[in-house]
Amino acid sequence: MADNNKKNNNFFNQNPLLLFIIFAILIVLIFRSIAPNAVSEVNNLTSQNRVMAYTYSDIKKLAKEGKLAYVAIGRNTLRVKLKDGEIITVNKVPNDPTLVEILDKYHVPYGAVNDSNWLSDLIFGWIIPIFIFFAIWMFLASRMQKGMGGVLGFGSAKGLIKSEKPNVKFDDVAGNDEAKEEVKEIVDFLKNPDRYIELGAKIPKGVLLVGPPGTGKTLLAKAVAGEADVPFFAVSGSSFIEMFVGVGAARVRDLFNQAKKEAPSIIFIDEIDAIGKTRAAAGPMGGNDEREQTLNQLLAEMDGFDSNEPVIVLAATNRPEVLDPALLRPGRFDRQVLVDKPDFKGRVQILKVHVKKIKAGKDVNLEEIARITAGLAGADLANIVNEAALLAGRKGKKEVNQEEFLEAVERQIAGLEKKSRRLNEKDKKIVAYHESGHAVIGETTEGARKVKKVSIVPRGLAALGYTLNLPEEDKYLMQKHELVAEIDTLLGGRAAEEVFIGEISTGASNDLERATDIAKAMVKIYGMTDVAGLMVLEKQANKFLGGFAETKDYSEKLQQEVDEFVKKFLEERYKIVKEKLQKYKPVIEQMVKELYDKEVIEGERVRELIKAYDESKLEEVIDEYNKKNTQNNNEEKEEKDENGNNS
Ligand code: ADP
Ligand code: ZN
Repeated sequence: MADNNKKNNNFFNQNPLLLFIIFAILIVLIFRSIAPNAVSEVNNLTSQNRVMAYTYSDIKKLAKEGKLAYVAIGRNTLRVKLKDGEIITVNKVPNDPTLVEILDKYHVPYGAVNDSNWLSDLIFGWIIPIFIFFAIWMFLASRMQKGMGGVLGFGSAKGLIKSEKPNVKFDDVAGNDEAKEEVKEIVDFLKNPDRYIELGAKIPKGVLLVGPPGTGKTLLAKAVAGEADVPFFAVSGSSFIEMFVGVGAARVRDLFNQAKKEAPSIIFIDEIDAIGKTRAAAGPMGGNDEREQTLNQLLAEMDGFDSNEPVIVLAATNRPEVLDPALLRPGRFDRQVLVDKPDFKGRVQILKVHVKKIKAGKDVNLEEIARITAGLAGADLANIVNEAALLAGRKGKKEVNQEEFLEAVERQIAGLEKKSRRLNEKDKKIVAYHESGHAVIGETTEGARKVKKVSIVPRGLAALGYTLNLPEEDKYLMQKHELVAEIDTLLGGRAAEEVFIGEISTGASNDLERATDIAKAMVKIYGMTDVAGLMVLEKQANKFLGGFAETKDYSEKLQQEVDEFVKKFLEERYKIVKEKLQKYKPVIEQMVKELYDKEVIEGERVRELIKAYDESKLEEVIDEYNKKNTQNNNEEKEEKDENGNNS
């Protein structure tokens, strides 16, 4: 299928309209070849005849037997009236001279009829096939073009890419001060283009907004248009890639024509990597004609308008490294603006922007929310605010309180709570010990992140349980002991399974992967060990995706030493972690018990248990818990009894 498509694409490279016409003719011809049958069927129906079980040869036989009263000979059919009054219609054998001879010989009266008329010919030969063709075409077009272009938008986006005048201002974009600063110049240019043109200043034509998803790139672009009060044309790179080669390129052309007509204006291309991938990285299917043509058209358009035309193209991507270098050349997207995830201050500001839109209670503390949302992007924060409002609405409250915000954060971070997906007893036991192991190591290791919450409620798609460790503040630097503490915490889950259950499970795979990555990075990137000393073995390749590039320019021997070191190092840490868990066995057992009772324990409780244990007061705390718990249970029971009595 795909291959076929591709061939067609190449062949009709230049003109998708040709393809359309050929398709149409083909379908009409196919339909017409079936049409005569359909025509005779209609005549049969209109003359109220029934097709009986007779054949053409039967008619000749009936003629010889003298049973025919009259024969009407049409182009494709014979209609015959028998002497007993029955009427028969059969399909004719064409060009058979013997029929008339036989009729003459046996004195059967006959005449000609016109069994196909121009009207049914027109309907069945042309109108219906064309209609069917259009239906199929519209169906395909609407599926392929997903909102962009619309039906039959061959090579034309006229009236399809509409401009808007966004009502967004720089104030709506919180944080990101540096990025805002960089694009302010553009606003000024769009407002007073003549001033710059008279001076002969060259204004950038293209600005690439680089950053992870949800950090407000679209928002920033809109704000530029909003501040300058100019039309804003927004398209997504992926929407240019169409079923037919040439459509994307034509759309780019129309987009720029439109933008120039309404200049000064802004074109915003989201996900530009969809068209702007390097030609070398074209993927396993070989070159992609459509993408390449679209890209070429884009380059041509950007080169085409001179810098006096006040049209500025803003494009967004989170993968600048895959872009074709041609896109980044001077005169094209030669300016790059980093739109990064917000820091603590930025998060507070973003939350403020969005909280303005809802009715928040007095107790709402945005700084607390910002503190526990390190690493989230603006879009996530906007979601949290909205989710909190929804939660409050569901509870029938008049305002949104901190409680809802905290719940919303949890949902956003860990995915939706899946109460329905309950763990079976065996899994529950493993998860409870595993997570308790993480938590106890996290709390008892210096430099580890504090535990916020331990849970064995399955959430999201992957995590069966989780231990939320949150950093107190944004950290840009990690000291060596903190990295080791992170490794220990990660190993805590697996170690707890081994120590307390006696058998290990598959549940630790992700932990082990991360622990291994950290250990490797300590050796290869941060120069923290004696193995490679200060020699860096791998560069951090991608700021946004993390991970490192596999460029090996060091010896096999060193590689071997690194592997051995990482393995041994993890083993050592694992041993230490296991010993620590042994020591805290009573705490772990109590945590598991409480997890069974409540499914969730707060970080505060974990610290309380550990502190009590260190001060040899654990038994008292446990007694207290048991007393309270049985009391609670009794209360619940009483409540149930009352309910029972009532009903
Ligand atoms: P991107 O284009 O980078 O993927 P968007 O601009 O589409 O991200 O952001 C999605 C939404 O997230 C915005 O509409 C806005 O509500 C919110 N948002 C993201 N960043 C910010 C920010 N810096 N300030 C305010 N809101 C933001
Ligand atoms: Zn784990």
